[in-house]
Amino acid sequence: MNASNVSDQVDPGLRSALLDTMRAMDDARLNVGTAGNASVRLPADADAAHATARMLITPSGVPAERCRPEDMAVAEADGSYHGPLAPSSEWQLHRDIYAAFPAAGAVLHAHSPFATALACQRVEIPPFHYMIARFGGSTIRCAAYATFGTQALSDATVAALQDRSACLLANHGMVVYGRDLAHALALAIEFETLCEQYWRTLQLGVPVLLTEAEMAEVIERFRWYGRARS
Ligand SMILES: [Zn+2]
Repeated sequence: MNASNVSDQVDPGLRSALLDTMRAMDDARLNVGTAGNASVRLPADADAAHATARMLITPSGVPAERCRPEDMAVAEADGSYHGPLAPSSEWQLHRDIYAAFPAAGAVLHAHSPFATALACQRVEIPPFHYMIARFGGSTIRCAAYATFGTQALSDATVAALQDRSACLLANHGMVVYGRDLAHALALAIEFETLCEQYWRTLQLGVPVLLTEAEMAEVIERFRWYGRARS
């Protein structure tokens, strides 16, 4: 099977949806220039050994406003790819999130201003607001620092995402996953908003934190809410 045939198997609508998501990240000021990237999990091929981590991912080094839908790269789990442009330099991070978390249908990575400011402090975001529970627990972790585009960064990110759908990346930015592109984009915007709110309340002093019991109640409500909506 040659590269163009594999690439052609991807739904053109999914290519456009991925590019639209990347442009929406720019519009929401999550990304500027070539920073950040996005991907969506592809359906498994029956004969592929690592089918679950196949993805369509934004290309490396080209701003979203200059990309075409056909520039979105198909990246296989082994690092091979199909398309006119190479996949994002963070493809390993995306691949390992799909491999580790079956619920991940789309992954977004951004150097958004407030998340990145907190990531440079290497802080774990505490339960200063109940919406922290949207991301699976009572805190949002910060992954240990590692050089961009490395397996070490991917490993640190997967560790920080255990039981969570978002984390900070030390001295770098943030990553979030959702069940599909629209869900991941909504979560990314919510996450950046929470980071801004935390940053702002820190200007006033040390915030009052919610207790573990209060957060447990919120997490339970979100679990019920998620079922009711699905
Ligand atoms: Zn980055």
